[in-house]
Amino acid sequence: MQKSAYRFSQEDLAYLLSPQASKKDLEDLRQRAQDLTQSLYGKKIYIRGLIEFSNYCQEACRYCGIQATNPHIQRFRLSKETIYQQVSLGYGAGFRTFVLQGGEDPAYRDQDFCQIISWIKTTYPGVAVTLSLGLRTKASYRRLREAGADRYLLRHETANPQIFSQLHPPSQSLEARIRALEDLKDLGYQVGTGFLVGAPGTGPRDYMKDVLLIRQLDPAMIGMGPFIPHKDTPYKNHPPGSVDLTLRLLSILRLENPRALIPATTALNTAHPQGRLLGIQAGANVLMPNLSPPEAKKHYQLYDKKETQGLEDALGLKDLAKALETIGYKIDINRGDPIGGDYDL
Ligand code: SAH
Repeated sequence: MQKSAYRFSQEDLAYLLSPQASKKDLEDLRQRAQDLTQSLYGKKIYIRGLIEFSNYCQEACRYCGIQATNPHIQRFRLSKETIYQQVSLGYGAGFRTFVLQGGEDPAYRDQDFCQIISWIKTTYPGVAVTLSLGLRTKASYRRLREAGADRYLLRHETANPQIFSQLHPPSQSLEARIRALEDLKDLGYQVGTGFLVGAPGTGPRDYMKDVLLIRQLDPAMIGMGPFIPHKDTPYKNHPPGSVDLTLRLLSILRLENPRALIPATTALNTAHPQGRLLGIQAGANVLMPNLSPPEAKKHYQLYDKKETQGLEDALGLKDLAKALETIGYKIDINRGDPIGGDYDL
């Protein structure tokens, strides 16, 4: 049994991310990544119910549609009761992981999150709670962990520190993000990071850095998708990230991080009608259907035309199951923790 994961050389990474990469080499890459995923996780896809609880945000990340300085969007904040209702609907539909994601909304304090987390964990023992609440202090992460949160998603967005600073407000830095990811790991969270493919200013050299940073961080989850412009941001006319490059990176990351939980993201599904199936065939093993109520679906627009209906709808799992069946996969309704033990590569 071999425990170490595959490591791409710099040359191979540069080649696989370049226009010169041959069709055959790219198909080999994809096939190896899909085979490895199947050998570890089977032809099964874990599902997470995504609840977008607020689009109020005090941060001004320049690529994001719900950034603090956008005067054009209608802001909403779900009540705790509405969140509980959505969790209950999701539980009934088969979800065993709930992801709470939102803008950085100061009206939601640690004690509110702690109350929500404990409600979920006591009402539905055995489920996992994932948080995606942005950058907070280690003390805050500790309180949320003690209240029962299991996982935390915090993308590093880009491993290029200059570009990170161009895309984010001066209060943020790549260094602080990496420190936060280390804090989260230290507190015993299953940690997820990831990046935007095609974010303004980025290119293949930066994605190579992303792959190396992820190698160093060794996260339990990796989420990445194409950048998609939002009409109220300075990047409204910037072209979206490439679906093809996103899929290449997904396969590379799968081979480098065999156990990682890797979603075919909503952005990938928005950028390409077959995004979720292509993502799975490139090595993804998670989907995060939208479990937000209608008002949130309408107003949580991180980018233009974000998908929330059809196969993205958490309450339409039968249709999702049918779509997965066409490529021979099934939904796995277990909590979906990373697998342990040895594996054969
Ligand atoms: N406030 C939380 C949640 C942010 S939304 C946080 O900052 O972590 C979750 C993810 O959506 C972000 O990490 C980002 O990578 C992605 N996102 C934001 N704007 C986007 C855009 N224009 N195109 C594609 N993805 C975007």
